[in-house]
Amino acid sequence: MTTATDSDFGAREALRLLGAYPDNWVPDHADVDHNVTIVGGSGTGITFAFALRRAGIGRVTIIDEAENEAQAGVWLSRARMNKLRTPKNLAGPELGVQGLSFQAWYEARHGAEAYAAIDRIPRLLWAEYLSWYRQFLDIPVRYRTKLVRIEPAGDFFRLHLEVNGIPQVKTTRKIILGNGFVGAGGAYIPSVLNQLPRNLYAHTSDAIDFEVLRGKTVAVLGSAASAFDAAGVALESGAKAVHLFSRRSEIASLPVIRVRGYPGAYDNYHQIPDADPWFQAWRYRQVGSTPPPDAIQRAIAFPNFHLHLSAPWRTAQVQENRIIAQVNDDVFDFDFVIAGTGYFVDPSARPELADFAHHIALWGDRHQPPVEQRDEELSVYPYLGIAHEYQEKVPGNTPYLKNIHVFNPSGFISLGLPIGDIPSIRRDVPAVVGRISSDLFFADWELHKARITSDNVAPDFDPSLYAAAVWKQKVPVG
Ligand SMILES: Cc1cc2nc3c(=O)[nH]c(=O)nc-3n(C[C@H](O)[C@H](O)[C@H](O)COP(=O)(O)OP(=O)(O)OC[C@H]3O[C@@H](n4cnc5c(N)ncnc54)[C@H](O)[C@@H]3O)c2cc1C
Repeated sequence: MTTATDSDFGAREALRLLGAYPDNWVPDHADVDHNVTIVGGSGTGITFAFALRRAGIGRVTIIDEAENEAQAGVWLSRARMNKLRTPKNLAGPELGVQGLSFQAWYEARHGAEAYAAIDRIPRLLWAEYLSWYRQFLDIPVRYRTKLVRIEPAGDFFRLHLEVNGIPQVKTTRKIILGNGFVGAGGAYIPSVLNQLPRNLYAHTSDAIDFEVLRGKTVAVLGSAASAFDAAGVALESGAKAVHLFSRRSEIASLPVIRVRGYPGAYDNYHQIPDADPWFQAWRYRQVGSTPPPDAIQRAIAFPNFHLHLSAPWRTAQVQENRIIAQVNDDVFDFDFVIAGTGYFVDPSARPELADFAHHIALWGDRHQPPVEQRDEELSVYPYLGIAHEYQEKVPGNTPYLKNIHVFNPSGFISLGLPIGDIPSIRRDVPAVVGRISSDLFFADWELHKARITSDNVAPDFDPSLYAAAVWKQKVPVG
């Protein structure tokens, strides 16, 4: 937890120059508790809260099922890398207010030279910065508040929540899903592990007690960043040996998403014809997600780390509390296995969307790729609009879907980025807030029309201000 100190002077000054937040301009609706409910109180949630406040949209609430700030998001739990994977100089939650940026925050505490010296942002410092941002901007998050069901109710939603485990219903007009990888679908566990007892394997998204792996032989499946991070931590925690198994013959090293990071492609991605975003997503899946070189170096620095290429697991069984795995023509045995196998996207797998998931337009509904580019997993990604809103499978049937704005990785094909990651903030947070503003405004157009044409406002001055200067024709004498 970070407290405000004199090092906040620059940030305070930046806010002062920005001026006061506008008043809430959104008219209250009877029986509706919130204009916007943000699900997820980590980086995405708190950034939206700041953006909505600056847009004069009030009655915004942020909920998070996590116990507290430290448990929310990935940074202090499931993320195990030493440094962020993204470059240090990306625009982020500061939303153009430089005094609120990571760089300004860091330099205020450690100096410009220290910032110049770091190549990427240390993970723990990023978590500290987000905590400072939330507290400095006084953004309240309701922790221990889980969304369990979204029930459409005409032009608003009933949100079924569990608050400290107790059911509660709240109503809202708009929803932003800032609920991360898990909210997009879930952790992907390969079928070969499904039959194993849960105490013998974990997914990298689980809270793993690495101390328990001291002296143990550990297998890691997968070869993207989280797999190498898990291997690194297991080795640093004293594992006897770690074997990492990759299906690929080489570790993925071509950063295809970075190729489209220039402003033209970044800014206009949503307008390119469907065949191209599909191809880009398909190509990314073919090429694979690249681990940063330092994640690989961290693991290979240990002589008891072993890399197996072209080595998918064929079978896995349990004998005397050990896992016996068949890989190609070899048989291995392990004490524990960690699936670093990523996440899947599928709205129909999310309990909170169950009322209407079958009405959400998916990429498979909107685009038929050529045979060689078919991909069942990509075909169930939602087909999102430019404001990240769900689209209707059958237009006109479920108009409320446009009021759910999805800011999690399920927007990957439609928007071309892992949504929620830092690179998605600069372009997409303003796009979503702009649409929320316009939808809320035009939903009450008659009220706003009356408001903007009203003369129910005190005049800036009365005629006495200029009365003395008004020309008075002289009356001729005699
Ligand atoms: C290991 C790892 C490393 C990463 N490294 C980087 C990186 O270096 N750079 C980068 O830009 N991105 C990185 N990412 C991507 C990353 O997830 C994000 O940048 C960041 O965490 C996104 O923030 P978020 O707030 O959108 O989602 P998250 O941080 O995932 O937070 C989602 C929040 O939603 C809450 N929630 C979920 N479901 C519910 C519910 N039903 N009810 C209430 N609350 C709910 C969760 O408790 C959680 O606090 C990494 C991801 C992982 C997993």
